[in-house]
Amino acid sequence: MSTKRDYYEILGVSKSASAEEIKKAYRKVAIQFHPDKNPGDKASEEKFKEAAEAYEVLRDQDKRKQYDRFGHARQGRGGFQGHEMNMDDIFSQFGDIFGGGGGGGSPFDSFFGGGGSRSRQRKGSNLRIKLKLSLEEVANGVEKKIKVHRLVKADGVTFKNCQTCGGTGQVRKVVNTMLGQMVSTSACPSCGGAGQLIDQRPPGIDSSGLQSKEELITIKIPAGVSEGMQLSMSGKGNDAPGGGVAGDLLILVEEQEDKVLKRDGNNIIYDMYLSFVDAALGTSVEIPSIGGKVRIKIEPGTQSGKMLRLRGKGIKDINGYSTGDQLIYVNVWVPKKLNAEEKAKLESLRDAPHFQPQADANDKGFFERMKEYFS
Ligand SMILES: [Zn+2]
Repeated sequence: MSTKRDYYEILGVSKSASAEEIKKAYRKVAIQFHPDKNPGDKASEEKFKEAAEAYEVLRDQDKRKQYDRFGHARQGRGGFQGHEMNMDDIFSQFGDIFGGGGGGGSPFDSFFGGGGSRSRQRKGSNLRIKLKLSLEEVANGVEKKIKVHRLVKADGVTFKNCQTCGGTGQVRKVVNTMLGQMVSTSACPSCGGAGQLIDQRPPGIDSSGLQSKEELITIKIPAGVSEGMQLSMSGKGNDAPGGGVAGDLLILVEEQEDKVLKRDGNNIIYDMYLSFVDAALGTSVEIPSIGGKVRIKIEPGTQSGKMLRLRGKGIKDINGYSTGDQLIYVNVWVPKKLNAEEKAKLESLRDAPHFQPQADANDKGFFERMKEYFS
């Protein structure tokens, strides 16, 4: 058994250090011994891993308490056991300590700009497209065939297994540490994690082994998407240069505004105009809705501002739990111009008993209706 260095000593902090102090100290040590900064330097790499382990324990309140009580003695039985930290684990910590916030992070940006990418399998770049959808497509979902230009493995490119890693894409190292033997896995430096290298490529194809190709991709848009939503199809982006996994196709949803039907969440709003004769006598009218025209009945004596509801004629919820309604707002239209004959007819009705406006308990006013709608 090797001698173990104290975790606090590794990070150069006191036993009473705050979480923030520990984080800062680790950041400093990690930068000092980072493999990118010390290529091929074994001693630095060990120090780098040692610091990562120390931080892994001290960042966690429970593990830190265990360590404070039992020191390294508890290793392997409860406490902070199972410390098989590989490079992936270590680099995944970085999102936490180097990502975002923290004033003036410029040195970290330059060192860790790629996040943990160096330790993962090589991945092709993402493709982004915008997709404009009509209200009907949004409401019911749609399948679209879209032409995209992808970078794909060129014809005639052949691969051979990487000799460094034997095709696995990863290199493993067994290291003796204060916690016993530790297996460290990292992406193969020769093939970048792909496991393969380009063997032969035809003339005109560069060392990435890729060429642009137009491809017809079928995209299934679920019902209920909305403006600004991003859908992703994994593996439909660009292939990785030299082998590896393809990137993703990212689809940004844009809603095309409909001239007559307006969206309000999962409801569809339609403003209907009726002549005051139709409103008074009642009628039936055809109105637009998603999926075609619908005939609705107008009761005699329908007031302006009345809201009619067509249940289930709205937009399906993106989670599939419900469907919105179509709400029809009645606007009684008052003529703006009248000829002599029309004027005379209306004049004769001016004082008719049923033409006198009155607030009826059964007819809610505008504010009552709005309250009802928004409740
Ligand atoms: Zn390799």
